[in-house]
Amino acid sequence: MEGRTRLAARHRLRTNGASTVGKCLATRHPLLTAARPSEAPAPNSSWLKHMQSEMVLPLITHGLVIGVLSAQSSRSDAFSSQDITGFQIMCDQLANAIENARLLADAQQRAEDLAQAYDQLKELETLKDKFMQNVSHELRTPLTMIRGYAEFMLGGQLDMAGADHRDALRVILRNSEALSEMVTDILAMLEISATKTAATAISIAETVEDSLAGFHIVAARQGVALNANLTTCHQDCLVMARSDHLRRIVDNLLGNALKFTPTGGQVHVRLWEDGQRVYLEVADTGIGIPAHLQERIFERFYQVDSVQRRARGGAGLGLALVRELVDGYGGSIRAFSAGVDQGSTFTVILPRVAA
Ligand code: ADP
Repeated sequence: MEGRTRLAARHRLRTNGASTVGKCLATRHPLLTAARPSEAPAPNSSWLKHMQSEMVLPLITHGLVIGVLSAQSSRSDAFSSQDITGFQIMCDQLANAIENARLLADAQQRAEDLAQAYDQLKELETLKDKFMQNVSHELRTPLTMIRGYAEFMLGGQLDMAGADHRDALRVILRNSEALSEMVTDILAMLEISATKTAATAISIAETVEDSLAGFHIVAARQGVALNANLTTCHQDCLVMARSDHLRRIVDNLLGNALKFTPTGGQVHVRLWEDGQRVYLEVADTGIGIPAHLQERIFERFYQVDSVQRRARGGAGLGLALVRELVDGYGGSIRAFSAGVDQGSTFTVILPRVAA
């Protein structure tokens, strides 16, 4: 009873050489204390306030002491050397049982870890297959167009002096651009997985302005209004990054916003800071993202599955790349959309560095 109370109070046995438990651990031999001198205080290893005699036995398995068994009594001479012999047999069995239970728990844990690793591998394998399918599909479409038009031109089926000729060249150009964009994404993905290069302090406003300059033409051609408000984040609003990485982050978000916003829609870019962090927001009035997929779109190769989206191309790598880059620079990215056809807003947060 007394022992249980002390156990509940998290009583710890002393295992240093001075205690009986410590001595038994060190010598690996049973210990018998017949009677305690009345004037001596109860030792720390005692479970009983008025302990008089004690028997301590080692728990040994595979040559290792894994614990001790201490039996105590408030009577003097409560234990004999015969008790020691009997209890030691029990202790050996106990030690084996404890060790077996531990080995079983270890084996179970290892089996669970293995099963988890196998599931992850299977998921990776599925993602890789999906990626190969996506890439081959996405590569085949523009390649077919390029080849088809080149064959028309060579075969003399087009009016080489007139509009046909220019249209064909435009198709070839547009499709080669799409191809090169995809290959760039794939290579960039491989590159950032392989190397983490040193960053420098760069102006995020300048990067956004450069990127916007390129996208204004795309937006105009598409009939989408592209606006920006960068005034709250001036030239001294610096972040630590590699300039081509930062440009890739901005380009990917702007490219997606335009890709998923139909004619007549709007894309708005905002930049601001709160002293410690810089915020880049790209909001569009496009086709939106279902709530339950707003995290999944950051996974490598993941694309929201719909005919409308598949028709817009891509390999599902852009956002995964953006997240890896942003994470690598100590930042974060989140997506928000009120739902399908409700537009989307992407916010990148990066640590601000002093000028
Ligand atoms: P990709 O654009 O090449 O398909 P991303 O990784 O850039 O790959 O995007 C993953 C998916 O997230 C896209 O296929 C699309 O379904 C969704 N998505 C990304 N940006 C937007 C956006 N601005 N509006 C709607 N859906 C988006």
